[in-house]
Amino acid sequence: MTDTSQTNRPRRGVLLDRDGTLIDFVRDAELGVITTAFHPSQLRLLPGVATGLRLLGAHGFVLAIATNQPGAAKGHFPREAIARTNDALVALLRTEGVDIAAVAVCLHHPEGAPGGDPALIAPCPCRKPKPGLLRDLLDQLDLDPAASFMVGDTPSDVEAGRAAGMRTALLFDQARCELCPLRAAEAEPDRISSAGGADRSGGDPGRSATSHPCAPHVARARFDEIARAVVEAMG
Ligand SMILES: [Mg+2]
Ligand SMILES: [Zn+2]
Repeated sequence: MTDTSQTNRPRRGVLLDRDGTLIDFVRDAELGVITTAFHPSQLRLLPGVATGLRLLGAHGFVLAIATNQPGAAKGHFPREAIARTNDALVALLRTEGVDIAAVAVCLHHPEGAPGGDPALIAPCPCRKPKPGLLRDLLDQLDLDPAASFMVGDTPSDVEAGRAAGMRTALLFDQARCELCPLRAAEAEPDRISSAGGADRSGGDPGRSATSHPCAPHVARARFDEIARAVVEAMG
């Protein structure tokens, strides 16, 4: 019981987006559609994910998943499919030596779609880029936001992380040109405030992307590169 009192170090964590960050999207070449995984058999870890997560775990980061899953609100698949797929992902990562402490899911969608579960069609405080999902996890796991990272593949992940007072990392696909300004922003880290960026106003709007609420602290092409940068940043 003296172990924990020896250290004043804040508890730190890495909150992880799911689709496009940990696992790949599901591409059906025949039908020409791209969906998110909704069955355990569709889970494919992206390159560097297992290695990167093990590195983060070895450096004392608590790991948790924060994911928007509007599929049931849009009538694409039942909510049970989402829970089963998430459980399978946690189990898969465990076989890779990675412990996921919690999974937080936003099932809502503001507009929904025909056949969607009406109970899930509503505005909510948890759908990223809102920070509700992240704040819940930080509370639940007793993590210090300023010592923790949000990692995702979209500006909305970054925006949510910044709004929750966290540091942020963006995994970018080379083909996604809309993210280029955010990558450039990462080159000037000293101009990015560490917390509350989304709430700050009054900056001159014509300024570079570094004042943008979606500008990440770290941007890399692969998850293991992100993990190394996070470890470097936090010592
Ligand atoms: Mg994503
Ligand atoms: Zn929600």
